[in-house]
Amino acid sequence: MKDYSEIKIFRSIIGAKRKGERQMTSNSFFKCKVCGTVFRLRFQVGYSDCPIAFACPNCLTEISGLISVHQKPPDFSFKVDNVSEVGECQADYVLELSSEFLTHKMIADDHAHHLPPFLRNIDFTDTNKTARILQTADEIENRLKEIKIVRDLYNNGKYDYLERMLDGKSDDMAAALRRLPNVETGYPEVDSLSQSHKYILFSVEKTLGSETFSSINSLASVFESLLGKFPGNLFSFASSLGGALLKENRRRMEDLIVRFATMYRGLLPLYLLDWDLTKTNLETDGITTVGLKPLHEFYKDAFETICDSIDVAIGLNNIAVRNDYQSFTDGHYCFVDKMRKYGFKSAKAKSLVFMEPFSFPFVSLLDNTIRNSESHFSSKYNVLSQMVTFKDSSEKKEMYLAEFACKCFEVYCSMCILWDLLYQMERIYLIREIKP
Ligand SMILES: [Zn+2]
Repeated sequence: MKDYSEIKIFRSIIGAKRKGERQMTSNSFFKCKVCGTVFRLRFQVGYSDCPIAFACPNCLTEISGLISVHQKPPDFSFKVDNVSEVGECQADYVLELSSEFLTHKMIADDHAHHLPPFLRNIDFTDTNKTARILQTADEIENRLKEIKIVRDLYNNGKYDYLERMLDGKSDDMAAALRRLPNVETGYPEVDSLSQSHKYILFSVEKTLGSETFSSINSLASVFESLLGKFPGNLFSFASSLGGALLKENRRRMEDLIVRFATMYRGLLPLYLLDWDLTKTNLETDGITTVGLKPLHEFYKDAFETICDSIDVAIGLNNIAVRNDYQSFTDGHYCFVDKMRKYGFKSAKAKSLVFMEPFSFPFVSLLDNTIRNSESHFSSKYNVLSQMVTFKDSSEKKEMYLAEFACKCFEVYCSMCILWDLLYQMERIYLIREIKP
């Protein structure tokens, strides 16, 4: 595990060792293997590994890799695909790289010595927060391996091994899992579902932000109170959805959660800004630690999965506001019949009444133009300006890559709220199945 307690000092040491002087950026030269374009990569020496994701502006070949930062002894090394390192030379383009800050976008190399990102951002930099978030990136990468084991054990019905694994752990996570209220039912399948769900939730808690985590908790309380007041209606609703749908969509969401959490390190500059781009000059600054492709694929798959699971929120709203999952605002009474009326899944999602307890953030986030453009391969990306153009048959939308990453983060948070509701429904479905 890396130590981020003295990150200020470390930045200078590593820069000094590399260049024989105290400086915070290091220039390395790489040549595109396809067209020979030369890049000067100006690395803002940081404390954590720095993912690289950009494309050659000339031949559009994707260039990706990682700068591994070693603390003892302080040093770093590049591993980048589709380019080869060359000695110091006349570069065509210069690109800043930083694991912590948004950076100047790629421009023709003007050989100017701009202030490094750290100094440009020094007024906004909170060293303790940086250390905390870097630590989180390390923790999440370790947790992701365990999430896979926990998920597989549950999905393969190996409940005894799951329990043994969690019992054998002595960390904070295991302690939190042992303190879970209202979880023990005595049915191994149900209790293991709760354990594996909570294990994943606690593992990715820091990727969600406190607001989303409190929404999950408060909706779980609303759910509990509905279960107290309308148990029969809630059980009927769970049965009408069916265990297979609940299980399938929960698993799809877990796959997506793992995919988003895997991008955490690439999204560090945005986590450090609390996903607030208002103080950023998006014309000059952008992001080079995460590429458009994984974000766009995430968006499309999350969009589909949210739409496929939105019935859960619709029925819960009906119960919360009108005491019956079959009862709609317009007086219509029959859940299955109402759901059949919608030709488009996203139109169904938009039927959620705004301001009802379980409507929370789903509807406004679902953008058909962005989703369709992925399906029909009609998004365009300008590698220099980092402007993404999404286009479908009726509309065109433009946004910077950093803005699109923020949109993906919102979709991710909303999906996690829905994921928790799916879990609650699957849990009561299983209880009813075992003990009718
Ligand atoms: Zn090229």
